[in-house]
Amino acid sequence: MLNITQLLDKVEKRLYINGEWREGSSGETFDVVNPATEEVIATMASGTREDSIAALDAAHAARQQWERTAPRTRAEILRRGYDLIMERADEFAAIMTLEMGKSFTEAKGEVAYGADYLLWFSEEANHFYGHTNKYPAKGLRMVTVRKPVGPCLLITPWNFPLSMATRKIAPALAAGNTVIIKPAKLTPLTMQYFVQTMIEAGVPAGVINIVSSKSAADVSEPIMEDPRLRKMSFTGSTPVGSSLMELAAKNIIKVSLELGGNAPAIVFADADMDTAVEQVKAAKLRNIGEACTAANRILVHESVAEEFTEKFVKAVKAMKIGNGMDEGVELGPLVEKKAVERMEELVEDAVENGGRVIYGGKRIEGKGFFFEPTVIVGASREAKVFREEIFGPIAPIFTFANEEEAWEMANDTEYGLASYVFSENPDVMFRASDNLEFGIVGFNAGVVSDASIPFGGVKASGLGREGAQEGMFEYTEVQHIGVRDPYAR
Ligand code: NAD
Repeated sequence: MLNITQLLDKVEKRLYINGEWREGSSGETFDVVNPATEEVIATMASGTREDSIAALDAAHAARQQWERTAPRTRAEILRRGYDLIMERADEFAAIMTLEMGKSFTEAKGEVAYGADYLLWFSEEANHFYGHTNKYPAKGLRMVTVRKPVGPCLLITPWNFPLSMATRKIAPALAAGNTVIIKPAKLTPLTMQYFVQTMIEAGVPAGVINIVSSKSAADVSEPIMEDPRLRKMSFTGSTPVGSSLMELAAKNIIKVSLELGGNAPAIVFADADMDTAVEQVKAAKLRNIGEACTAANRILVHESVAEEFTEKFVKAVKAMKIGNGMDEGVELGPLVEKKAVERMEELVEDAVENGGRVIYGGKRIEGKGFFFEPTVIVGASREAKVFREEIFGPIAPIFTFANEEEAWEMANDTEYGLASYVFSENPDVMFRASDNLEFGIVGFNAGVVSDASIPFGGVKASGLGREGAQEGMFEYTEVQHIGVRDPYAR
């Protein structure tokens, strides 16, 4: 049995810069709150502009040595990190549930998924080839190598406190870069414990630095204005991503952006209805709906809308809501009070736009930021639940009359991250791929994320990919060496 007090005591609350744990230079702090109980569970040192520059100094100084460390050595450190996280899976999961709210079972799932990036990129580190060839006509040979890009600033959101960070840190370290991590202020504890674990795994001083702060801009601005920073990778909302891209423009810093989503889940008349219901429920309510890949708009063919809706409501009704640490709970609280108010605003707006709440629709009174899982039918396309990212447990169901209308409705958003399609006709998979403007298409599957896939979006959902070999490319620069061919005339 885990002792929660002892576990929280074990998590470092200070900044980690240049191989040492230290208080923030201003002495200021901020609190972390458990969204299920509204209790303060930790008080963190808050990093300042000076701390941020100190972290960049450290990352810059450690750069060359880490870059020259053998790939195998880097791989072994990542692999040890993977083993240690898996050994401590219950601890990581409990920390995540306490600071973010998701159920312990889901948190355990995220630990395995997040750790998997370390395993995947530990393998990738050893097999990261460049290429050689002859120029087709000139008397030269080509040697093309991929080099680490340099110090990286990695900014992560609160909804997946471990995996959104390991997707960046693992490829960055595998490729030979040094990093500065800025976790979300709502959920810094998971990342603090992760850094402690990676130090034990053998990451040298300066290679990994963490600057939690109550002011994100204080950490990002000073170092993004410093030309020693060479890469910024951000996961979070589209407006913040866009403003960071502007900052990056000044020094032409390489950027990766994993931003918001507004995923359609399209259920065709020939879909296996039970699979569709189960998978759409997972796509919608995984992580309490607080996922960039969450099915935001459920689009169902009009001939099967009644059957789908009935089965979907039945499946949602069966879900247990409560404190994520309690046995059997599937849906925890939302992350903060503001999120509950946002759900109320979305329900009210949907009703004003013709929607009918057929299940849920209200906050749950008492301690904690709980909101009922909610199903809405009949809202128009003007409703915010169609137009905006919901980021909570509201499932709006819309109908379409034919395939063309389904693609058109699906693409009617500025976002382009995940999309889901349910049909028993394999041809529909290729037509979906041709027609959908999204980086990810799940075909008869509601959860497709994995360390082995190139995850990312198009349009306002971002730039670049995380995971797979593409994820490693994001942390490298290509260098070409043109060599005179000894046989050239
Ligand atoms: P957010 O944009 O508010 O914050 C994300 C991170 O940026 C946090 O660490 C925050 O402290 C920091 N930040 C905020 N303002 C900043 C500024 N001015 N300068 C520098 N850093 C700043 O997003 P959030 O509420 O934490 O996360 C939810 C959003 O993240 C949703 O839009 C969701 O879709 C998106 N998201 C995307 C993906 C993806 O892979 N595409 C994954 C998870 C979440």
